[in-house]
Amino acid sequence: MQFVPWQNVADWHCKACGYCCKLYSVVLSFPEWLNITQTFGTETTIAIIDRFFIKRVNDGDCAFLCSDSKNYYCGLQNMKPDACKIWPFKILSESKYGEANQAAYDYRGVRFYIYADTMCSGLRYGTPTWEFRNLKIKEFTELALGLRQDQCKTTRTVNYGSQQQWGRRLFQ
Ligand code: SF4
Ligand code: SF4
Repeated sequence: MQFVPWQNVADWHCKACGYCCKLYSVVLSFPEWLNITQTFGTETTIAIIDRFFIKRVNDGDCAFLCSDSKNYYCGLQNMKPDACKIWPFKILSESKYGEANQAAYDYRGVRFYIYADTMCSGLRYGTPTWEFRNLKIKEFTELALGLRQDQCKTTRTVNYGSQQQWGRRLFQ
């Protein structure tokens, strides 16, 4: 994994390539685990020591990753875990990957340090656009801080099917 400061990113737009949903295991908070298992069953998750994760199917994909002929989609739209909502950004209280000035982001008088995971194909590098600086990074920060749940600028907008339909992959 490699990270770049957010000020080196001109814009981000999810291309629905599904790469992040194939690459990483998704860690769940306890309320997230409860919601998911009550809806889809405990077999959709695994516990490792004292942490819960979404189960990965045989090919390594997240069990809730779905696709049509062109794009990959999340089958957990209304209960998508926070870790997925914030990807590919990390919002930290301290500079962790260097270039602190480029990573700095002030929100309501508090300084944060924001980095992007370069594995995401939706990143376009350069000077941040107005929308990226003022709307997208702000929304990622508010999601990370738990100040909002809904995603407006930080997800791909598509016409999803029902959660039950999307969430059946494990049982096929
Ligand atoms: S967030 Fe990035 S890696 Fe994940 S699906 Fe979108 S473009 Fe692909
Ligand atoms: S829960 Fe959704 S966004 Fe998160 S890894 Fe699985 S398919 Fe991707």
